[in-house]
Amino acid sequence: MGIPAPPPVGDTALKPGTFDGQTVFITGAGTGLGKAIASEFARLGASIVIASRKLEHRQAGEDAMKALGAEVLTVECDIRDPDAIAAAFDAAAERFGLPNVLVNNAAANFPVPAEDMSPNAWRTVVDITLNGTFFCAREFGRRHLDAGTPASIINIGATYAWTGGPGFAHSAAAKAGVKNLTESLAVEWGPSGIQVNCLVPGLMPHEDMTGDIQENLARTHGGPNKWDLCQPAMRVGERQELGWAATFLASPYGRFISGHTLVVDGANWQRRSLTNPAVVPIREQMGKPPFEM
Ligand code: NAP
Repeated sequence: MGIPAPPPVGDTALKPGTFDGQTVFITGAGTGLGKAIASEFARLGASIVIASRKLEHRQAGEDAMKALGAEVLTVECDIRDPDAIAAAFDAAAERFGLPNVLVNNAAANFPVPAEDMSPNAWRTVVDITLNGTFFCAREFGRRHLDAGTPASIINIGATYAWTGGPGFAHSAAAKAGVKNLTESLAVEWGPSGIQVNCLVPGLMPHEDMTGDIQENLARTHGGPNKWDLCQPAMRVGERQELGWAATFLASPYGRFISGHTLVVDGANWQRRSLTNPAVVPIREQMGKPPFEM
């Protein structure tokens, strides 16, 4: 049986207009989960700023927000570049005023055994996922500290922040940093009215997942029709379930929640026992030949 399916996309638990007059700045909101989170804020009245590198992604995000009747601005921005982030916030402020909510959703990831990982691959993933998250939070936080205005930051994490992520050492280490950063910033900026939380999706497949990730899921979980059976909930997550959690955290009803990491994964990451399935070395899982220098 498992955990029942959620209400359909389009339902909202929060009151209509909860984010009327507010602006939400979301990185990587032209695809997948970022687009789903942006959609839930848009549905509740927020204006949306989408920051990402690729025009086709930004266009897809813009189309989705317009279809919901939301005001939307898209800005080209590589979150590894603090100057580009500052310019993106300038553009957002010019159009809507200083955004009230920042969702640090953008991240990079691909499966690779640690011994095959190049220094460049390591640097790229850490640079986007951890450094980019900090640079965006820093820009947003400084502007609110200067203005003396309250605000909310949601950093998107991953459950391997706690467990480690064999085959994803770069991303797992970066996400552990994101979780830890959330806790530091929440305390530093709480006195100035800035909430900082981390929101962690479980497996939420979507059509924008990169080929690398889709192949890895198919290899390790036996393909989409088996994914549900690998989850304690007996189903994977629906994107709107993450969007609902994000809107709650940034809403007036979630104001006293700060420094928290909320996992939306149907208890999948706690699925451990003394008799786990037999260990399959990562190279074997990924169909790689034996390692050679
Ligand atoms: P996705 O579809 O691959 O989206 C990643 C987004 O980040 C893209 O829109 C991309 O846009 C943007 N991005 C990447 N590098 C960037 C950069 N340097 N500067 C600006 N934007 C950049 O990923 P997703 O599956 O929706 O995941 C969203 C978040 O959830 C990520 O933080 C991910 O780690 C987390 N997560 C997802 C799952 C899942 O099941 N899907 C599970 C656990 C955690 P451009 O290419 O246009 O820059």
